[in-house]
Amino acid sequence: MSGKRVLITGGAGFLGSHLCDRFIKEGYHVVAMDNLITGNLENIEHLFKLPNFEFYHHDVSKFVHVPGELDYILHFASPASPIDYLKIPIQTLKVGSLGTHNLLGLAKAKGARMLIASTSEVYGDPQVHPQQEDYWGNVNPVGPRGCYDEAKRFQEAMTMAYHMHHGLETRIVRIFNTYGPRMRLDDGRVLPAFLSQALRGEPLSIFGDGSQTRSFCYVDDLVEGIYRLLLSDYHLPVNVGNPSEITIKEFAEEICKLTGVELKVEYQPLPKDDPQKRQPDITKAKEILGWEPQVDRAEGLKRTLEYFKDKIKTPAEQEA
Ligand code: NAD
Repeated sequence: MSGKRVLITGGAGFLGSHLCDRFIKEGYHVVAMDNLITGNLENIEHLFKLPNFEFYHHDVSKFVHVPGELDYILHFASPASPIDYLKIPIQTLKVGSLGTHNLLGLAKAKGARMLIASTSEVYGDPQVHPQQEDYWGNVNPVGPRGCYDEAKRFQEAMTMAYHMHHGLETRIVRIFNTYGPRMRLDDGRVLPAFLSQALRGEPLSIFGDGSQTRSFCYVDDLVEGIYRLLLSDYHLPVNVGNPSEITIKEFAEEICKLTGVELKVEYQPLPKDDPQKRQPDITKAKEILGWEPQVDRAEGLKRTLEYFKDKIKTPAEQEA
């Protein structure tokens, strides 16, 4: 048992719940905090019976109080998929700004090390490819994605200010598209959308001509990268993601092959400010953390499919 106490905000969400599992496995006392705006208690209900797990139902954009000592704070609370943050842009801006400020204050008061979940979205629609951490990005602050991208950029700036001005120990992970069990089927992102459409026997929706690329990281790999970064002594941003890049059209073909359905596609207009290319440069993560992804897409998709199959009725099951 490590005996250390860690606060994980957004603990009932997709990534937060996997982080709770990992820290429990490592012997930490885990305090999860979430207002359930996009999360689901089902993701962590298996932890409720454990003596070293606590849950606070709380909005971190309001004053945050946690009794007792804290060694680490991982700030993962934030709507993360476009469908969510377009619906709740103000809460998104608040949790990235006020929420981050509240948690930095808590970290300072407790003498805890704080890690924030930043994102590849800080690079916006990048003009440099692949993206290295020293690229400053190409973000439209007044576009529809501005609420998320700018909240995360502010979050990084505020975190660096606490580091430089107050000497707080901070870590910044820039997360690229991550997938795996506990993703919401209806979160609007391409991977759950394709998998659920294929399982329901519906055509796959491709936005634009499908030539845009994405790279997908399996959740266990991401969690490993975050764990190593937290325990490292490196305070500048680090990209964590899988550099294996694929066009959306090829990805649709891959999903159909995996699910054993015939490829049917429905083309729709490209959303405004949708990035054309996204691929992490993970040189830093390799050098500083000794980290690189271990789970390839074929294996990761197989594991994710198992989870989705449980949640979705196939056309045959719907008829039965
Ligand atoms: P998610 O929506 O599944 O989880 C976010 C959690 O935060 C939810 O449980 C939600 O209820 C909670 N939350 C939101 N606002 C809150 C508030 N004000 N107070 C308390 N709880 C609040 O999303 P996710 O995919 O798990 O993302 C987690 C974090 O990782 C986010 O900060 C996101 O920006 C970042 N991130 C995720 C990805 C990805 O591919 N999933 C990529 C880049 C960055």
